[in-house]
Amino acid sequence: MTASKILLLIIDGVGDRPCECLGNKTPLQAANLPNLDELAKTGICGIMDPISPGIRAGSDTSHLSLLGYPPQKYYTGRGPLEAAGCGISMEPGMIGFRANYATMDEGLITDRRAGRIEDTKEISRAVKEGVDLSKYGVTIEFEPGTGHRAALALKGAGLSAAVTTNDPKKTGAAMLTIKPTDDTAEAKRTAEVCNEFVRQANAILEKHPVNAARAASGKNPANAVLIRGAGEMGVYEPFEEKHELSGSVVAAAALIAGIGVSVGLERIPVLPTTPLSEQVSLVLKEFDKKDFVLFNIKNADEYGHDGKAMEKKEFLEKIDAAIKPLMERSDLLIAVCGDHSTPCTIKEHSADPVPLILHGDGVRPDGVAKYDEISCAAGGMCRICGGSLMAVMLDLIDKTHKYGA
Ligand code: ZN
Ligand code: ZN
Repeated sequence: MTASKILLLIIDGVGDRPCECLGNKTPLQAANLPNLDELAKTGICGIMDPISPGIRAGSDTSHLSLLGYPPQKYYTGRGPLEAAGCGISMEPGMIGFRANYATMDEGLITDRRAGRIEDTKEISRAVKEGVDLSKYGVTIEFEPGTGHRAALALKGAGLSAAVTTNDPKKTGAAMLTIKPTDDTAEAKRTAEVCNEFVRQANAILEKHPVNAARAASGKNPANAVLIRGAGEMGVYEPFEEKHELSGSVVAAAALIAGIGVSVGLERIPVLPTTPLSEQVSLVLKEFDKKDFVLFNIKNADEYGHDGKAMEKKEFLEKIDAAIKPLMERSDLLIAVCGDHSTPCTIKEHSADPVPLILHGDGVRPDGVAKYDEISCAAGGMCRICGGSLMAVMLDLIDKTHKYGA
């Protein structure tokens, strides 16, 4: 039987470079990965440029590319995707922002994470219900994310995403006034709307009982909202129409979940704290009714950003142990890859291609028996662009249509 369903497993930031503390091996090379190695051995391997060679992909642009939505055409900024991931129903034309709670003292931002506040449901509801922008003909959506994070969306005619942030991006500095970044009346008006949103939100937060309680217990109050990453929600051809597959997204990162929702995948909620084994069970359950699951595993990227090669290696070993149940289904075509490399040596995304495995009934196994950047480069898939991945996978499950006669 040919595989009929697709699992796209993206290990965020998986790719790396040789690390001195690992004897000049990459974290993947240094890790003990029996399950991923088994997939590599029985599958076909290669390396992949998530967007194209030399392009240092963000997680958002890369995921769009891997799902078959060229970011050059579809990407309008992080804000609207993050807003969708926080549960806001984003419609084309709405302006989305990333937001976060901060602590402000006499006009100065003193803590950009508001004392690492954990639960902002109540204050977020107060902001959403309390801010009134009707004099501009604008309505808002405002939803909490994880920790101090949240998202804002503006809905109304004559809005623009061409506005700056109020985030000074450092502590001890004054909150900034949001400004238009072009000369249009829409941008000017949107900057005004944003500043009014911030003014009202901060006033609501200043006298909110949650903050009074925080102050009483010596914690930094969440009395300011910083917004950034403005973008206009785009129009996405629904995934099910584009690829003829029904699908879900399992991703702890709001940004990735938001990308999934934006293209029409069903979001299966997981938190960064949800154990990997539980996330894997949720993925498996989805295949009872769906044809496709995008499963993004967070954290390897963060170890890369922190330059923690040993921790990255150990986390990769945890992923390896957790994915075993996924390998037991014979109806799956499994793709394992990253959305970009995050080398511990540079603590940032790089354009180094990511290692790729395609595993499932019908693939042509090559000589590669290990999942890492160097071994996979010798594989039968050679080097492909991320924009081709969906087509390649669809072909392996017999879902492509012949080009020509
Ligand atoms: Zn990423
Ligand atoms: Zn990253």
